[in-house]
Amino acid sequence: MRKLPKIELHCHLDGSVRVETIIDIAKKENLELPSYNMNDIKKLVQVPLDCTSLDEYLEKFDLPNKVMQTKENIKRITFELVEDAANENVKYIEIRFAPMLHMEKGLSIKEVIQSVLDGMNEACEMYEIKANLILGCMRNMSVEDAELVAKEGKEFIGKGVVAIDLCGPEEEGFAIKYKKAIDLARDLGYRVTIHAGEAASGKNVIDAINLLGAERIGHGINIKDMKEAYDLVKSTNVTLEMCPTSNLHTKAIDKVNNYPFFNFYKDELSVTLNTDNRTVSNVDLTNELNIIKENFNTSEEDYKRIYLNSVDVTFAGEDTKVWLRSLI
Ligand SMILES: [Zn+2]
Repeated sequence: MRKLPKIELHCHLDGSVRVETIIDIAKKENLELPSYNMNDIKKLVQVPLDCTSLDEYLEKFDLPNKVMQTKENIKRITFELVEDAANENVKYIEIRFAPMLHMEKGLSIKEVIQSVLDGMNEACEMYEIKANLILGCMRNMSVEDAELVAKEGKEFIGKGVVAIDLCGPEEEGFAIKYKKAIDLARDLGYRVTIHAGEAASGKNVIDAINLLGAERIGHGINIKDMKEAYDLVKSTNVTLEMCPTSNLHTKAIDKVNNYPFFNFYKDELSVTLNTDNRTVSNVDLTNELNIIKENFNTSEEDYKRIYLNSVDVTFAGEDTKVWLRSLI
């Protein structure tokens, strides 16, 4: 599995910071940590298996974000994520991050985006991998903030930024509040993916598609319990960005045998497999693909179909898609 070419469409930058990098930056910046030992810091940034909810899961992002407040650190952390992905033969990755989480020391939204782009481009020149960026708007921030991210990020569309996302804590019925902001983003040229149906019901997936025009849904796992949402995803061919270990951690699913990925796939829903957060969930994409292979006995032919579907639903340009298809 490690050797196979891979596509990753749902990976959060701040959830995928190397633990040794957190310690290294903290030492350099005299940032006080409770310990400078790898195992102690791992406990602060990785969720335990007995994590109870998405809200508890999201607490693990506090420390990584403290070391992502300068251009240099943001660039380094992005470079390292692309490097880690390239080292397990991910050939294309869409990295998402919320610019407004990185402004504590005075960076502007544009400076944050440019720093991520610099790290991404440097790694893509060094390794056989291509990448694009998705700008995240936090649902625990205001609608005005979401609109600001969309406007400030506009000049980067076509230069590495491809899409917009809503992320963070999920409340039932969140979508309507952000309709204006996402409509604006689409008008400005962003593709749209929305976290929905992870910590709340399939109704949020229906809203994300019907109200926000989502082309892809982050997780969407709870459509398994709502026929109307399931049927809409199927009839619209909207893609689900599924993340098995993360869903186990946030208790979106109780045990891996009940993970609906393979059933969705067999029923011809558009599904992709992703890590969500490499550090917080302590996984890589190889790990996530192996979970599905081992628990559902998928074949090489299945893998090829899943890979090719993932290529089709990337937000990449046609040249990149042609290259990705040639790799399998
Ligand atoms: Zn996510």
